[in-house]
Amino acid sequence: MSINLKSSQAVIREKRLKSIVGYKGSIKDLTNKAQSGCIKNSLRGFTQATNCSSGCAQGHLSSILDAAIVNHAPIGCVSEIAGANASFRWGQSIRNWERKNVQIINTNMSEGATVFGGSKILREGVRKAFKRFNPKVIFVTTSCASGIIGDDIDSITGELEEELGIPIVPVYCEGFRSQIWASGFDAAFHALLTRVIKPPKESHPEIVNVIQFNGSGRDEVTRIFGKLGLVPRFGIPYSTIGQIEKMSEAGATISVCGTLGGYLGNGLQQKYGVPYVTALQPHGIFGVNDWLTKLGSVLGKEKEVEKLIKEETERILPELAEIREKLKGKKVVVGMGPSFSHNYIRLLQEYGMDVVWGISWHYDAQHDHGGCPNCSKYLAGEDQDIPVSVGDQQNHEVLNLLSKVKPDLFIGRHPGMSVWATKMGIPTVMVSDEYSAFGYNGTISFGYRLIDAIANNNLARNLSKKIKLPYTDWWFEQEPFHFLEQEEGKKTDSLA
Ligand code: SF4
Repeated sequence: MSINLKSSQAVIREKRLKSIVGYKGSIKDLTNKAQSGCIKNSLRGFTQATNCSSGCAQGHLSSILDAAIVNHAPIGCVSEIAGANASFRWGQSIRNWERKNVQIINTNMSEGATVFGGSKILREGVRKAFKRFNPKVIFVTTSCASGIIGDDIDSITGELEEELGIPIVPVYCEGFRSQIWASGFDAAFHALLTRVIKPPKESHPEIVNVIQFNGSGRDEVTRIFGKLGLVPRFGIPYSTIGQIEKMSEAGATISVCGTLGGYLGNGLQQKYGVPYVTALQPHGIFGVNDWLTKLGSVLGKEKEVEKLIKEETERILPELAEIREKLKGKKVVVGMGPSFSHNYIRLLQEYGMDVVWGISWHYDAQHDHGGCPNCSKYLAGEDQDIPVSVGDQQNHEVLNLLSKVKPDLFIGRHPGMSVWATKMGIPTVMVSDEYSAFGYNGTISFGYRLIDAIANNNLARNLSKKIKLPYTDWWFEQEPFHFLEQEEGKKTDSLA
């Protein structure tokens, strides 16, 4: 399998990875179907609003320090950037940097542009971004409106590139192209792979590209890698264009999140021969051990990794045993992106918790390296067959499910969902930081966070007394997957 780096557009996940957003069943069934190539997307007779892939593309690219974005779209399409800006400023504050805002301009497409074409306002927007931000690269992100009217973005950006003398790079992330918002990560990485990352001038086998989001755990990764004689180079957020250009010179690429890093990691391997480490996510002891073992085997550091795993695991096992005593048997529901969801289910099992349902916001039947996700295969190989579902953050489904399953804890990663579990009175932990539960020390500190969340649920309890949920009693009397058509076109009618 290979990623098509000849085209200016990334192929969307539905086509590339057979990804789906509708499923209800069990982890064994889901993984079997994914591995045998017969997975099907179930449709819904009713859907709520969900996210758009342009948010992922813009959120990620806007955190490159010396680049700018021109979003060729109606103004509403850029509203998500407020969240990306808050996240960008938080990332700068944890680095003790002076905080600045993301560098983005929206072309404010209106009726006139959609009728007569948007090339004029796109040119104006790019020139304005060049003058205002003095960037090394300008990314032009597309939208449903610019895609539908057929503005010739490739030609316009090509002409502007000659005029301004810097790369002007199209990023095709129209919301209607894909139901899966993570396709936006791929669109962003496609732009970097095809237009920004340069062929290697030097070789640095000791450097490992670490693909991440905000990167609060950089010190811990640096500490662990230091014991192996390796140096992490974190990206893409908070990197400069100059640093990104040199990603081809590293000894390997690894990611904190399989959903995020697969396209860039595999693209670097395919184009420049930099090996991409396909492992479990480094959350929990089993996860970090697998992450480091696979990294060690790619870089010939097997002995060093073995020694490190022994030392670190022995160091934390007694404390982990105490945490397990407190969390053992607690019922938990997980709702996250696919890699985080299936990796966190394993992590919660390490704490001895009873995962009664796992939801992922989409599911990739395969990853770009060709196999079914390791985290799903791991869970499917266990005795217990966990009930799982897939839905693009359809809150009506999730709230209904929570009202029936009544877990002791909900673990989410997105505020748009986690807040509703809290409003239902359920203790909720939102894992917005990708380094929560990272590695050995993180597994211990996250365990205490879960214990605290269960021990003191006053916030959720008090909120639930004062808040009326936006759904009718009728809806809560239905089965959670009432609107989900299963493969034969039949509605699901039971939780079992
Ligand atoms: S690109 Fe399309 S789906 Fe995304 S915010 Fe704009 S109109 Fe909505």
